[in-house]
Amino acid sequence: MYHSILVPIDISDPEFTQQVIAHVETQSNLTDVAHVHFLTVIPTFPYYASLGLAYAGEAPDQEQIKNEALAKLSEIIDKFNIPKDRIKKHIASGSPKDEILRLANDIKADLIVIASHQPGIMTYLLGSNAAAIVRHAECSVLVVR
Ligand code: ADP
Repeated sequence: MYHSILVPIDISDPEFTQQVIAHVETQSNLTDVAHVHFLTVIPTFPYYASLGLAYAGEAPDQEQIKNEALAKLSEIIDKFNIPKDRIKKHIASGSPKDEILRLANDIKADLIVIASHQPGIMTYLLGSNAAAIVRHAECSVLVVR
């Protein structure tokens, strides 16, 4: 039914992933042509930068951060039971919601699967990225609670 499924992953919280695995597997295995695009976004730190703190220590090597994020993303993807040839990995940096929405358009996603918020944080029913995706995405969004 779905052909291009986008699964944004927050690699800093593995419990997030645990919530969505079964749903992604079910949706992607409904047809054998569905591609699953995993994306992790490395957030920028404008707040620290505005205080000049980003320059206080040695600036982290962007390429190294990217490689480590990609390795972590690959580790997480291994937990999903989806044929390898139907998986695509993406990495971006910036605002998670903006990058998620941008990639959704680029790959013509017909479904985005996200968790509603961090498992430990119950104050909001929808996290800020989840809320923006539900509001602005041009395709269906499955919010896993
Ligand atoms: P919270 O505000 O509780 O952290 P979010 O709205 O940020 O909740 O997270 C909901 C979903 O948004 C996550 O399950 C994940 O799919 C996506 N998401 C959040 N941060 C990122 C990120 N840095 N990279 C990719 N996806 C993310």
